[in-house]
Amino acid sequence: MTDKILILKGDGIGPEIVNEAIKVLEVVKSKFNLDMQTTEGLIGGAAYDETGSPFPDESLKQAQEADAILLGAVGGPKWEKLDRALTPERGLLAIRSNLELFANLRPAMLYPQLAGATSLKEEIVSGLDIMIVRELTGGIYFGQPRGIRTLENGEREGFNTYVYSESEVRRIAHVAFQAAQKRDKRVCSVDKANVLEATVLWREVMEEVAKEYPDVELSHMYVDNASMQLVRAPKQFDVVVTGNMFGDILSDTAAMLTGSIGMLPSASLDKNNKGMYEPIHGSAPDIAGKGIANPLATILSVAMMYRYSFNRSDVAEAIEKAVGDVLDQGYRTADIKGDAGKTVSTVEMGDAVVAALSK
Ligand code: NAD
Repeated sequence: MTDKILILKGDGIGPEIVNEAIKVLEVVKSKFNLDMQTTEGLIGGAAYDETGSPFPDESLKQAQEADAILLGAVGGPKWEKLDRALTPERGLLAIRSNLELFANLRPAMLYPQLAGATSLKEEIVSGLDIMIVRELTGGIYFGQPRGIRTLENGEREGFNTYVYSESEVRRIAHVAFQAAQKRDKRVCSVDKANVLEATVLWREVMEEVAKEYPDVELSHMYVDNASMQLVRAPKQFDVVVTGNMFGDILSDTAAMLTGSIGMLPSASLDKNNKGMYEPIHGSAPDIAGKGIANPLATILSVAMMYRYSFNRSDVAEAIEKAVGDVLDQGYRTADIKGDAGKTVSTVEMGDAVVAALSK
């Protein structure tokens, strides 16, 4: 069966970094004899400029027909003053919700070669490899009722609703346990079950789903402790699964443990493991067009695509190994340049990964 991949380059550095990932796709296609078909579509400011919408119907149709989507990044000062509904970032929210991409997987891994780039002590983060699984389409960010109201005494009150149905917890639990099966087989579920009833249910459902994965060990941690443990001893974690808001915060903390925003990929999956794969960083307008952006997060997003949507860990591992090899060889884009290494451009970094993969 042909793997259909939709490519959405987006704005700012998006086209520059995605072009390097396309080169990697072409190499793995021939190296592993993959049956793959790529098409390109529009999203974000680029889509707005061409069609008047940040996520036009044609892009939705292409996304629905694809098995996986590779996205660069969206946004930039050019589109900041548009009506909220027309901003590039709205295009991103639209594709996530239209495709029901409820599971956000964000690995935080630190290549040992880059240990100097983190703000933590090297021995605490060196070799770090954790996976945050964040529920993306539910919880307090979407719960109703919500709003700001004026009480009888004239005082204003803001309110939101933290709500999770059993089925929402169940489906994110399955994603976490299955991710753990491909890793070190440990899941830590993060909640606030000592205070919030919604997370008491979350914990109960996690326990129920765990019975279906006897090979995976489940533990629980309160979110306040988890935030502390992430900076105290992050290597204790394998997979961390949590709700939308806790995941939003913890995944940023985990990302910063590695000190390099240009290195981190992500996946957002639906219930059939169809996914959208993108670097965690934005469109970096400050360096767009200069040819210095780091393409490795986008290239590593391709590796995630092969692991999670196409079930080809061998392809994923080859890409990840090639990235490790180029770092070993001393190639560094400006964002990850420490004392060592030779500074290379976006294209040179892509070429180096292609060369390592082609060996
Ligand atoms: P950003 O991630 O784009 O940039 C933050 C800093 O990191 C900048 O200094 C940038 O130069 C640097 N940086 C980011 N990616 C890099 C890379 N690959 N190589 C080297 N350096 C890199 O965040 P921001 O500046 O807050 O946002 C810029 C625009 O991106 C905004 O319009 C924002 O809305 C949008 N954004 C989009 C996404 C997305 O598409 N998923 C995510 C975050 C922000």
